[in-house]
Amino acid sequence: MTKSSTIYLLLLIVVVSCSKTDDVTSGTVSITSIVQSKFGNAVTISTSGSNIILKSNGLPDHKTPYWGLNNDLYEDFPFGHAPNVNTTMIAQDYTMTIPSNPNEALSKEATSLGEIGMALNGVALFNDREGGNIPLDAKTLTTFDYSGAHPAPSKNYHYHTTGRYTSVDDAKLIGFLRDGFPIYGRKDTTGVYPTLDAYGGHTGPTQDFPNEIYHYHASNVNYLNSGYYILKAGSYYGTKGTFTN
Ligand SMILES: [Zn+2]
Ligand SMILES: [Zn+2]
Repeated sequence: MTKSSTIYLLLLIVVVSCSKTDDVTSGTVSITSIVQSKFGNAVTISTSGSNIILKSNGLPDHKTPYWGLNNDLYEDFPFGHAPNVNTTMIAQDYTMTIPSNPNEALSKEATSLGEIGMALNGVALFNDREGGNIPLDAKTLTTFDYSGAHPAPSKNYHYHTTGRYTSVDDAKLIGFLRDGFPIYGRKDTTGVYPTLDAYGGHTGPTQDFPNEIYHYHASNVNYLNSGYYILKAGSYYGTKGTFTN
């Protein structure tokens, strides 16, 4: 090999290795196998390129008063609670598309009203706000069932907090937000309440990702002394995918 061809080869290697790092939107941890194994049968999962597509009808697989009195899955409200103006829930046509390799967004985007993620049973996750984009108030909390949930105007049932059928003061995987990062209960697998960043998460090992991943936790603040713990407030850590209804 001549000297000039050696230099050309070296240049080629540098160019090729640089172009591999250009894809800043792709993180180092793939969530695909965990998504495929942890979501329940009510959620249909497929992949397309670097995305994972999850479909569900959004109805819970557990008891709630919002099923209505004549349903086998009916249970009463917590003491003093009552239905909200939407009164009941109906099946939705949810499609959530998330990156298979979630990554930190260069500029963080606020979560908005509506669906910000999906629980493992296909129910939608909402942030800490209600219509008018105001934080949940004490009166609205009295429309929650034991799951910290109620229906929105499209009669789309959704979780705002942890609860009886998702996570109670534990390290359970609850679901995934629209940016592809998982959300867990208030504790880490070690049993401690982790210190969280401004987005409600941190990087570390979980039972599903022993080699570390960024993940959210439910808040450890007893919200308005209600006994409910908000799932997610503030901005996404990663770049959000789509959620259509
Ligand atoms: Zn709500
Ligand atoms: Zn953690």
